[in-house]
Amino acid sequence: MSEEIRTEEKESLNFIEKIIEDDLANGRVPNNTIVTRFPPEPNGYLHIGHIKSICLNFGLAQKYNGICHLRLDDTNPAKEDMEYIDSIKSDIRWLGFDWGEHEYYASDYYDKLHEIAIDLIRKGLAYVDSQTPEQVKENRGTLTTPGKNSPDRDRSIEENLRLFKEMGEGKYPEGKYLLRAKLDMASPNINMRDPALYRIKFAEHPRTGNKWCVYPMYDFTHPISDAIEGITHSICTLEFEDHRPAYDWACSIDGIEHTPHQYEFARLNINYFVMSKRKLLNLVNLGIVSGWDDPRMPTISGIRRRGYSPESMKDFVSRVGVAKVESVVDYSLMEFCVREDLNKRAKRVMAVLDPIKLVIDNYPEDQVEYFEIENNPEDPMAGKRTMPFTKELYIEREDFMEVPPKGYHRLYIGNEIRLKTAYYVTATSCEKDADGNVTVVHCTYDPESRGGETADGRKVKGTSHWVSAKYAISGEVRLYDKLFKTEYPGGETGNYLDDLNPDSLIVVNDAKLEPSVADSKPGDYLQFIRSGYFTPDYDSTPDHMVFNRTVTLKDSWAKQKAKMGL
Ligand code: ATP
Ligand code: MG
Repeated sequence: MSEEIRTEEKESLNFIEKIIEDDLANGRVPNNTIVTRFPPEPNGYLHIGHIKSICLNFGLAQKYNGICHLRLDDTNPAKEDMEYIDSIKSDIRWLGFDWGEHEYYASDYYDKLHEIAIDLIRKGLAYVDSQTPEQVKENRGTLTTPGKNSPDRDRSIEENLRLFKEMGEGKYPEGKYLLRAKLDMASPNINMRDPALYRIKFAEHPRTGNKWCVYPMYDFTHPISDAIEGITHSICTLEFEDHRPAYDWACSIDGIEHTPHQYEFARLNINYFVMSKRKLLNLVNLGIVSGWDDPRMPTISGIRRRGYSPESMKDFVSRVGVAKVESVVDYSLMEFCVREDLNKRAKRVMAVLDPIKLVIDNYPEDQVEYFEIENNPEDPMAGKRTMPFTKELYIEREDFMEVPPKGYHRLYIGNEIRLKTAYYVTATSCEKDADGNVTVVHCTYDPESRGGETADGRKVKGTSHWVSAKYAISGEVRLYDKLFKTEYPGGETGNYLDDLNPDSLIVVNDAKLEPSVADSKPGDYLQFIRSGYFTPDYDSTPDHMVFNRTVTLKDSWAKQKAKMGL
């Protein structure tokens, strides 16, 4: 490898990769094997932001021949659930990552953490505080004023041991006592002002049941879990930067042998989305969406149901990159990545979302012809299929106008168009219902134009897609738009619910689709010619197929890029 290429590669590394390469090169990594972890709290479904963290942690392990653990950070039994644990695992697998045997739970370490806590008490480094939660808060001080020592700070070791034991035996109600580390109430870092180690909580834990009624706090559990698992690079988002001193303190407790290091990167934010689990849970609980996997949700299960591919999401987060500066990524960049990927893999099919009937008056009554169509012009390996053509067809309502405006090249009386890959047809008349809506268009076809080419080489400007009325299947089509109508939901009023987009879901009840789509199933990538990318929804039954629109074909990001001269 030439020196030049090497430098270039080095420069394209993100800051965490640089740290890792430096650590590896200087023998700072035990066994020369990096160990990362993805540590979700099972209190909700994973969202697109988590994809960034998953790709980073699992991606680094892959790149440097290391290991990535999945650790369920289950220290808050009141909010956690097995359903969430299962969904987290299935979402990570969908992205194509595998933690192998390295599936861990913070609750695996409860015994160990409890021992460490008792040890700290024995050494006079932790105490039981009887202040009320309000007093604890009050006496913690602020960013500009130091905190005040708790009156219990000098409680004797014996009494601390007894009280902590009794807390664990369920003798006291929640909030009565707190076990705190004795650090420094005057520290400029609030997280170092005697952080809480254990609190009383009477809640059944998804894994440990009712064994415990004291639970360890995040700032105590997380670093020690990392240390126990031999994590070398503990990567988290920037809001934990202020917690790093507390992290390092916990890792320096006597008896903790391995010292992991914490590194922070900027979380992924996308405009038009809310992405905190608390807000997402609220949308579910209020019934604003149908569930965590509603296709409008920015959850992994939502976008999967909507038809996003894992490859497109990995591409998206790699384009966003890993940095230390907070930013908001444009929604259209994400959609751009989805389109780029689906364009390569989606099977093109004909679907008429707002049908009107087209009758070819000079076409033989019972004749059926089969036209061969490429499944994907972008991918010759995708093969071909046939579509039945009959006297009565459906075309889009917008493809016919009784009184065409100037420049309209689709069907109007006297005008000729091409029916995609089939024949040229000329409209002759139309029928209307009592309200004046066109119900049927009559036309004649040119039998010499089979396959979409005319004998005399004449050209037409309009092409319509179509499906055979006799063979079409009817389906429900769900058209999605952004769940919020403003770039920063709640930015003006402080309540994101004020900015819900009332048109985020439009249901088309009676779309007409070519018969081949009957074989498709959720997770298949389809392009409905002219109206976007779609995938079958799991609400489909054999008699009633339902499709989700993944994304439209229009590409506003490309336009924006062109404008910016990229
Ligand atoms: P939220 O704040 O959205 O509710 P969280 O941070 O509480 O999420 P966790 O389950 O604790 O969610 O997160 C697991 C991991 O994913 C953490 O390391 C966290 O830093 C990371 N993570 C969470 N949100 C994002 C995001 N938007 N971008 C990148 N990483 C994220
Ligand atoms: Mg969290």
